[in-house]
Amino acid sequence: MFINVENIHNVAITTTEKPVDFARFQKFIEKSPFVRRVAFIGRAIFDMPEFPEMVKFCAVNNIYLIFGEVGETSTQNLRALVEYRNVLFINIHEDKHNVKLLNEYKQEFNSELPNINIIIHEKHTPQEEISETSYAFYNLADDIKNIPCLNLIAEPMMNYNGDMLGCWQNPDKDHKINAFDLGMDAALNAREFKNMIKMLKTGKIIKSCPCTRCPVFASLVWSNQTIDVIKKVSGNN
Ligand code: SF4
Repeated sequence: MFINVENIHNVAITTTEKPVDFARFQKFIEKSPFVRRVAFIGRAIFDMPEFPEMVKFCAVNNIYLIFGEVGETSTQNLRALVEYRNVLFINIHEDKHNVKLLNEYKQEFNSELPNINIIIHEKHTPQEEISETSYAFYNLADDIKNIPCLNLIAEPMMNYNGDMLGCWQNPDKDHKINAFDLGMDAALNAREFKNMIKMLKTGKIIKSCPCTRCPVFASLVWSNQTIDVIKKVSGNN
């Protein structure tokens, strides 16, 4: 069988509002044979009642997982992060008890995974909090390697309900493509999604495209730049 590695997908799912629905997620994975890694952003994924089953289901389907934010959660959920050896990396809020438990599970299962990054809580002044959330112009010169448009190819992002966002900066709330319903390949081939990539490549506005309303695109236009996001063929994990 010929496998084109360009079709292998790493995806990100935002669960800051709600966890994913397990039954819909299972169908999505069944319809998306080339998804190889899922990164869950946000803590609500740990409110999923079937969290351990979800991790196991992904392991059985050879899917690696990343968790961007582990907060307070049950011991069963912490155990699942280690037991199936498919969680590559977690960020966890400072909690000595949970970190100790995770390390005990790593010994019990003789596993080096997951790699654990402890988030140290920093206190922000009210002014710092305002400046973090209220910027209107994206500083490309400082941050070109972290430009959120790269998500479109490197790790396409969707909301907890499968609505395709493409990147984490997408300003639109009304999403027309649902990856849980369509499967990943069809979602990436949808015209709405391809238009985002086209706009970045040409610098020409496509009115229906969310990039039209995004400060990152405004910054690209202002600095007279276009970007062509392509996928590297090897080293996908
Ligand atoms: S320009 Fe488009 S792809 Fe880039 S960050 Fe904005 S919405 Fe995302």
